[in-house]
Amino acid sequence: MSLAVVRSRAPAPGRAPEVVVEVHLANGLPSFSIVGLPDLEVRESRERVRAALQNCGFDFPVSRITVNLAPADLPKESGRFDLPIALGILAASGQIPAESLEHREFAGELSLTGALRPMRGAFAMVCGAARQYATSDARVPDIYVPLASAAEAALVPGIDVYGADDLRALCAHLNGVPDARLRPLHAATLSDDRTAPSPDLADVIGHPGARRALEVAAAGGHHLLMVGPPGAGKSMLAARLPGLLPPMNDDEALTSAAILSASSIGFTPSQWRQRPFRAPHHSSSSVALVGGRNPPQPGEITLAHLGVLFLDELPEFDRKVLETLREPLEAGRITISRAAQQADFPAACQLVAAMNPCPCGWRGDPGGRCRCSPEIAARYLRKLSGPLMDRIDIQIELPALSPAELSARAAKRGESSATVAARVAAARDVQLRRQGKTNRELDGREADDVCRPEATGEALLRSAGERFGWSARAYYRVLKVVRTIADLAGADTPTAAHVAEAVQYRRALSIA
Ligand SMILES: [Zn+2]
Repeated sequence: MSLAVVRSRAPAPGRAPEVVVEVHLANGLPSFSIVGLPDLEVRESRERVRAALQNCGFDFPVSRITVNLAPADLPKESGRFDLPIALGILAASGQIPAESLEHREFAGELSLTGALRPMRGAFAMVCGAARQYATSDARVPDIYVPLASAAEAALVPGIDVYGADDLRALCAHLNGVPDARLRPLHAATLSDDRTAPSPDLADVIGHPGARRALEVAAAGGHHLLMVGPPGAGKSMLAARLPGLLPPMNDDEALTSAAILSASSIGFTPSQWRQRPFRAPHHSSSSVALVGGRNPPQPGEITLAHLGVLFLDELPEFDRKVLETLREPLEAGRITISRAAQQADFPAACQLVAAMNPCPCGWRGDPGGRCRCSPEIAARYLRKLSGPLMDRIDIQIELPALSPAELSARAAKRGESSATVAARVAAARDVQLRRQGKTNRELDGREADDVCRPEATGEALLRSAGERFGWSARAYYRVLKVVRTIADLAGADTPTAAHVAEAVQYRRALSIA
């Protein structure tokens, strides 16, 4: 046989499309060419495959070898195709049985000795296969990856994952050598009992207003801005938001893990079912934040999908960088176009932003510690554009704790995350039953249908909108927060009291 076909997958966040590796051996002057990969990567892959085959005691065929990776227009990183290329050459030259490659998918980078190196995106690869075969009657393939990457891949239910140390061990298995059989790995399970504990809300001293705002934000998935002096507890509160959100369901957990697995930060089984919490530094570029590069890579907003994106020191971010967040925050997805490639990444994250009220941080402090002139303080706030602020549903001020509050810290611990999370989960259930999504994700027409308060509330909302000069977008944001507050209270129709609380989250900030 002089033609072999091996199946593999390309890495891509949230999906991992199938790649077919065809290997053809022909008579003629010996050569080794690979098509479907960029030039440099072809050269490197050729050298690794040749050395690995020879060092594992296989014959490297003296023929014209042509390898084709299809489809041609997919983004491909070469290393992971070393293993399928090597197996294709072995099958085409009769050194392993061709039928041993059927109903199986392979990926892994070879070292020159034939060892299989850990790979990025093993979880994403198995997820991609699981999704593709979930809707077809075809037999689900077994997946073979480097042993070091097999544990994360084995977390995906319904697919057998095998890990191999090196090419020699894998080929012995494929040749059916007794005693050389590899066994499928079994992940501990997809149970939720091994999620690491996240920081608890009970550790936060004082700040009843901010704790309440955090609860409302968690319940409706609303974006949140906290303004306050250094040390007021903004970062502490933000870090506790993921612990208040409902646990991820299977589909969400798979999606999140697949995104992380295919990214440069990677995925470890201990992150299973953990809502991501990403806190990029304010020096981040727009590529780091929303994604980019060639081939397109996901940014922080995608890594935070289904979790929390925390931007501390919001005005220190480059204004242009912040502007690129506007659209994905609204749409819950981001499309990146680079040269010939276009990628669509999920980005349904909850934004939590924090900032000082002025460059020195102490504006409004009763002790008069602020040294900033009014112009400097105003310029600091102007760095945030109106359209971005419009999109932040809940905006609160967080005063510094008084010495009395600090000394009372041991006396009174606040509610625990578990207590608050139970109320949040109940309010989320109401939303999902009513409209199939969180209140934040309602569009204008849907908000008109389900969020309208009773008459006195409606009047209050209208007059607040006129007084504070809300845009239509800001108005609908408040309306959705009203709905969430009513959901937390178990009310069918929002009342004037619910409206009053939502308006308070949207007053022009007093420091502005
Ligand atoms: Zn100041």
